[in-house]
Amino acid sequence: MRSLSRGISQFVVALAMLSVSLSAQAPKKIAMVGGMLITGLEEPPIHHATVLIEGNRIVAIGPMDQIKIPADATVVDTSGQTMLPGLIDTHVHMVLIGHGDYPRYFKWLDEHQKDYPLSRIMDISAKQLLMAGVTSVVDLGAPLQESLDLKERIKKGMPGPRIQISGPWLTRHVAIFPDRYQINVTSPEQAAAEVDRLAAAGVDVIKAHAGLTREDYFAIVAAAHKHKIKVHAHIYDEEAVRNAFDSGVDVLQHVGSAGTPPFSQKLMDDIVASGRPVVPTAAHRVWVYPATVDFPERLDDPQYKEDLGEPLYSEMKSSFKNFTGLGYFTTMDRQMFFGDKSLEQWITSGAVVSMGTDNGTPMNFHKDALWRELKVFVDHGMTPQRAIIDATRINARNVMGIRDLGTVEVGKLADVIAVEGNPLFDIAALGQVKVVVKDGVIYKGGPETKKK
Ligand SMILES: [Zn+2]
Ligand SMILES: [Zn+2]
Repeated sequence: MRSLSRGISQFVVALAMLSVSLSAQAPKKIAMVGGMLITGLEEPPIHHATVLIEGNRIVAIGPMDQIKIPADATVVDTSGQTMLPGLIDTHVHMVLIGHGDYPRYFKWLDEHQKDYPLSRIMDISAKQLLMAGVTSVVDLGAPLQESLDLKERIKKGMPGPRIQISGPWLTRHVAIFPDRYQINVTSPEQAAAEVDRLAAAGVDVIKAHAGLTREDYFAIVAAAHKHKIKVHAHIYDEEAVRNAFDSGVDVLQHVGSAGTPPFSQKLMDDIVASGRPVVPTAAHRVWVYPATVDFPERLDDPQYKEDLGEPLYSEMKSSFKNFTGLGYFTTMDRQMFFGDKSLEQWITSGAVVSMGTDNGTPMNFHKDALWRELKVFVDHGMTPQRAIIDATRINARNVMGIRDLGTVEVGKLADVIAVEGNPLFDIAALGQVKVVVKDGVIYKGGPETKKK
């Protein structure tokens, strides 16, 4: 009797172990059901669609009446919503939060290191971006170790986007940021050596900031390409763009978005013919500023208080008092004069446009920067579908170099979001993010929170 009961209990234990190992091995299944699907390809949306996810891959898509939902799938109702690839921002600053005044912000961080180490700021940014449907980013400029650590935390499951990091940028013109954010270069040879050092430390990309010489760009690009990593150049005027372009810089960032006149036809033609992506970072000055003058209430979003905590929230808010006089916006008249012309040049040229926002810069919040950027392009004549493709597939493949990301197709990585309404009719619908799935994990929405 005793041996029988022991036998049974051993059998039960064995069963339990089997089911544990089964559930550990069986990939999680998610079915997003009912909404319109924008795939990220040049094709019409699929209406009343189902997206089926297994593990971290998309395994089926199609009209909902044609896709069988497995019994063990977690069903996420997206009725009345639009599903699309997770958004990607190719120019972010995890160490910034939208505070109005850099010197004051960094001083405050220095004085509050105990409660607000840089890692906490970066974690806040990571969460804000992910909750806004931004499932991948390129971070362009932060202290090296903190950047590597952040990437590791996200990899281990902390809520945040997939991230490529540059660590500190290379420059000859030291900006108002603290030393740890930048490497001061004095010769092309030194620039190349710094690239070697950053690559060995594990950065994903190199950021070449403004003020470098033509020879510096050539040395940086040669060194980076030897390590098979891309160079992003932070450049504004025609000469700097020309130098960076000729040297083979992979991604041209900013390109005229801060008050420089439109570029020569020759430069535009060369960039278009090269197929290399440009990231105009249009909205963060020329459109964020008037948007805030028109509606300063946007600075009062209660979510900021919840995300930042009281002391940092208060500090940020008080930096916006008299925001029209902030140093960051002193050349606003000139920037706004050239803003439309410069942007239209990129939209009509046929250049490969990548959507990046420079978010974290003054009044340019992680929470809403990307849909604002897309809205500016759409308001100037880009189709909403093109803008979405640029912020997903183009960003994934042409900028981040990740081939199986950026579309909702069978076999691709399962980064899928759902937004309220139809972004093909009103691109600002991208600001109404209801569901976020990254790498096959539900971070926002889903069955548990659906009833809210
Ligand atoms: Zn920059
Ligand atoms: Zn930037």
